[in-house]
Amino acid sequence: MHRRSVRQGGGVRIDLHTHSSVSDGTDTPAALLSAALAAGLDVVALTDHDTTAGWGPAEAARPPGLTVVPGMELSCRWFPADEPPISVHLLAYLFDPLHPAFVAERARLREERLTRGERIVTALAAAGHPVVWEQIVERSAGGVVGRPHIARALLEAGVVASVDEAFGTLLHHRSPYYAAKADTDVLDGITLVRAAGGVPVFAHGRARSRGRVVGDAAIAAMVEAGLVGLEVDHPDHTPEERAHLRGLADAHGLLTTGSSDYHGTNKLTPIGACTTDPAQYEALLAAGTGTAVLAD
Ligand SMILES: [Zn+2]
Ligand SMILES: [Zn+2]
Repeated sequence: MHRRSVRQGGGVRIDLHTHSSVSDGTDTPAALLSAALAAGLDVVALTDHDTTAGWGPAEAARPPGLTVVPGMELSCRWFPADEPPISVHLLAYLFDPLHPAFVAERARLREERLTRGERIVTALAAAGHPVVWEQIVERSAGGVVGRPHIARALLEAGVVASVDEAFGTLLHHRSPYYAAKADTDVLDGITLVRAAGGVPVFAHGRARSRGRVVGDAAIAAMVEAGLVGLEVDHPDHTPEERAHLRGLADAHGLLTTGSSDYHGTNKLTPIGACTTDPAQYEALLAAGTGTAVLAD
């Protein structure tokens, strides 16, 4: 029933990972869909961090001819036996947004994120940096306050010369102002997404440039818990990392996706920078039962 929106043959362009201003992107959901259309995309997934608040605005603003896949990027942790936990991201598509256990977990995560931002800003302000928590909250448009919001406040206050500089110094995980956050155990996250009829896909799983990555045994455990796919073509993956993930997907019978992880002007990557193979997209649609795509 969703297939009508996908043109047969070549040329179908699908980007399955983007962020709007509802989380830490700079485009409103409406502006993000306009950007997707302007970039020649046929399908775009909206995957804000730990919230579905962008789904309604996206539905209202969807231009004809563009298919929108409702999704989310869930903040998770992998707990190795003999090392500190590793932060991992789980993409979730087409889940029931009202599934009670999943709703409760998202509410808990948002609360953690808000507290975390406030802890960072309070520590910065106490050290004399001119940032004010209430102003940052006001300007976050009611979304989740993340480090990009704080970085922009530091930029506007003239403390740093760029958002990148803020991330490389005051907001770096080795900075004295950094605050960790409590995330969902990734195996529980996969279980929750599946229970809600959704499709869990491990996001940028091999991107060493982002920090520590999990090993193959962790991915095998995720498969055991119900993982459906691996994000392979991502701007932060090297060709070697992509090849390794493609091999794992083959070995475990997982689907593979490609996407830009677009954040508007908070990152340099344009929307549609990496895309998903149409056959893999069809497999993803077939696996999701919690909600439908938004299409003509
Ligand atoms: Zn991510
Ligand atoms: Zn992302």
